[in-house]
Amino acid sequence: MKIEIELGTLIFEISSPKLSNLINVFFKIQKLLIAHIFQSVILAFAEYYMNLVTKPFSCDKCGNDQYFIWKTKHGKSTQIVTIFGQVILKQLQIQCKQCNHKMYIVRKLLSILPRKRIPFETVKRLGLIGALTSFRVASKITSMFGWQLDKMTVWRSLQKLAKTIEFDLDINESASGEADGTGIPIIGIKKRGQELKVFVQHKKKGGVRIAGLGIGKYDGGWDKLFKPLLATMKKFNQFLLITDGDTSILNSIKDKVTILFQRCLWHLPYQFKYYLWKDGVKTKSTEWLYALAKLFNICSIRSLVYDEEVTSDMIKQKKKEYQELITYCSTNNWNRCVTYLTNASDDLFTAVENKLNGKTTSHVERVMRTVNMRINVGKWSPKGALNATKVRLAYYYNNFDV
Ligand SMILES: [Zn+2]
Repeated sequence: MKIEIELGTLIFEISSPKLSNLINVFFKIQKLLIAHIFQSVILAFAEYYMNLVTKPFSCDKCGNDQYFIWKTKHGKSTQIVTIFGQVILKQLQIQCKQCNHKMYIVRKLLSILPRKRIPFETVKRLGLIGALTSFRVASKITSMFGWQLDKMTVWRSLQKLAKTIEFDLDINESASGEADGTGIPIIGIKKRGQELKVFVQHKKKGGVRIAGLGIGKYDGGWDKLFKPLLATMKKFNQFLLITDGDTSILNSIKDKVTILFQRCLWHLPYQFKYYLWKDGVKTKSTEWLYALAKLFNICSIRSLVYDEEVTSDMIKQKKKEYQELITYCSTNNWNRCVTYLTNASDDLFTAVENKLNGKTTSHVERVMRTVNMRINVGKWSPKGALNATKVRLAYYYNNFDV
């Protein structure tokens, strides 16, 4: 529909035609302009629809979509929150000639739900802003464009938007994935008391997509993350899972799908460093250097070795060296190191042994950096951190956009 809008006369005070003065004038009148344009367009469509035999809307009570009369074109005000702030519009009211029911049609014409304070169109945009940058930065940047974002509105939008996003495995992508966790700053706690857990699925054309997200204690919470994925995971014949987390929940589907567990070789030496510290081994001492270097060596795998016999011999040697390392730790009475290495020993070379890509780089590690860039700004409630991360990762990795 072609619409012509009469803007009337604008009157304003301005001391000089400097650019900054003009920008300020525009800031002041843009709110009036938005309301005026919205109202004019809605009214034009309403009048057009009312002249149609069959309307694109129907009576809320009786379902009639033909017989209506106008009650008012200047009803009481209704507020619509847009990304440019609140726009105040006059209600348009019509009456059903069949059952006499009166109804407002502004929200119907805007295709937004009745009585929702913030329409979902706005929720999506404000929520994404809140996931991409801190509330302070969002507020600062938008204020430079003449509108001030209310922090709480952005916050609430982010929570609402997150509820509409669900992660799952994609049956059309690779049958492998990596899981990892990162500590997050929680309101009222000094230490990073909770861990955000991310599960990524490898994509066939390279890169990753987010398949699961959860939050919980350091040693738990994986059940909640994997539970919604079980149904899809069962559709794979075999799935390679690279993780250091607890995966006991997957036992329930083991008869449906072969799950190959692979210790994350990228994380192993880093976690080992932590156990060396726990066992009181002095950082950078001769023993410390020897043990860590040995483990780094064992964990680095050349993915370009195609010859099966070479591969099998390589793994044999690495396993032998791994046992030597455990013996070395044991001789030094590094008991925590011994336990840690022994627990990991069964799942070290699953990927290579099954001729799967068991590269020692961590894709999920990169994802974690994307998480931390937002999460490290400020303190969070566990749910708030989860929601912000959900939207952020959906945007960066799963093609979510507004
Ligand atoms: Zn009716």
